Amino acid sequence: MEAADKMDDNEWNYHGEGNKSLVVSHVQMSRVLRLLKYSSEDAENAPQTTEEAFRQMENIVDFSNNVMSPLLGDKFVHSGEVVKLPLEFVRQLSIKVQHQRPAWRCDKVMDIYSGAALCLPNLTAPSIQTHTPPLCIEIKPKCGFLPSPEHVSKDIKTKVCRYCMHQQYKVANGKWKRKSLYCPLDLFSGNKQRMYFAIKHLIEEPQNNFKIFKGGQCIHGDRDELLSVSSLLQKLRPYFTCGNGRNKAVLHDFIQVLVDSLLSSDEEGDEGMEREGRTVCEASLCSTELIRTGPQPLPRDSVLGRILQVQLLDSLDIEGLFPLYRRVEQYLHHFPKERSRLQIDGPYDKAFLEKLQKCPREDDGSIEYAVAKVQQYRIAMTAKDCSIMVTLVPRRDEEDGSDRGAAFSFSASILDLDPKPQDSVRRQQRLDHHVVAAYLRDDPGPR
Ligand code: ATP
Ligand code: MG
Ligand code: ZN
Ligand code: MG
Repeated sequence: MEAADKMDDNEWNYHGEGNKSLVVSHVQMSRVLRLLKYSSEDAENAPQTTEEAFRQMENIVDFSNNVMSPLLGDKFVHSGEVVKLPLEFVRQLSIKVQHQRPAWRCDKVMDIYSGAALCLPNLTAPSIQTHTPPLCIEIKPKCGFLPSPEHVSKDIKTKVCRYCMHQQYKVANGKWKRKSLYCPLDLFSGNKQRMYFAIKHLIEEPQNNFKIFKGGQCIHGDRDELLSVSSLLQKLRPYFTCGNGRNKAVLHDFIQVLVDSLLSSDEEGDEGMEREGRTVCEASLCSTELIRTGPQPLPRDSVLGRILQVQLLDSLDIEGLFPLYRRVEQYLHHFPKERSRLQIDGPYDKAFLEKLQKCPREDDGSIEYAVAKVQQYRIAMTAKDCSIMVTLVPRRDEEDGSDRGAAFSFSASILDLDPKPQDSVRRQQRLDHHVVAAYLRDDPGPR
């Protein structure tokens, strides 16, 4: 990182943003800065003190390093470091990026008061030099399993996945104009044909779940002008020359390479995860034929396998978890000082993860059990909200031993691993109720 006083906003460009943070990338170095955002409605109260902002950033790094990285595998996780930026630089930056931000994200503004930021490697612009720029594909896969029937009150939750129900809710509430046909259960199925369809649907309706970067620039997804599939294929054509460059062949080869990289595993003889059913969503349009071929094992050590295993820490569903959350809240109400001993909001150190891993299997009525289950749920929430970044680096012709025409070396990373705050559990419980109720109202199913 440069010395803070040398920061020049001309060297940083808008790169992208989510609901919580805005990201700028350096024009030369393979680096990004991730700054927090807050809602412009409560602009007066939102800017925290500088110390608070820094503590929040440190918490994010600790959580990523000491909790998510051991669970997901350190080869996938890059936690970055907290940096202090000159306020003048941050202010200039916020003015500069404003007009490039998608309109629907502008309900929030960038934090220009604390000077706190996270500095991370730019995963869309790896520093390796290649004759053709690498392609990076970002997927926000969301939750890849159905909850177990013993914990849910509505049968529909064991049949239709949360993402598909939520889609209907979001379209009804005007968040998106069109429904996405993507279903996470197809992506996590391990069945290559189902994964193929899942990715095809992500390309067609990316919403905030899919982006493609070429040489560090977003070329598909994110903004309205980057949604056309035919112009995407135009841009992908030079990478997939084998099928005479026909659109269908380009799309096919692209998705195939992506599926292979999502399933790739370093573990010798990776036999795949044991799945107890719960792998098929009734709302998915994947033909029943495909579904019947059954799930193929999802390699444990693949990027999807690792994410799914962490998502499965949500073993009780929000409905089974909520009574435990209430036990914790009541306890903290009576003994507020216990909050820090129980590490409710961190510190996310090694002891934090050890406590969770030692959690008894059965509820012994203790506060420790309840806290551990709530923390496991919060970790699962992070894994349901993270993104995968797949990097495809074209191999030079002489290295290309096969005659497949398109040959890439690939790698995967996982990003956006922020801890979810304790009170997000309560929000999740309300949202779950609304999403399910709305789905049942619009789609009462067979009568
Ligand atoms: P969400 O709303 O999904 O929670 P967020 O606000 O937490 O998102 P991120 O997902 O971390 O923010 O970052 C926003 C976007 O910036 C990402 O979707 C990705 O496109 C880009 N981005 C983030 N980190 C990196 C990185 N290290 N390298 C390249 N691009 C990045
Ligand atoms: Mg994100
Ligand atoms: Zn689904
Ligand atoms: Mg996030």
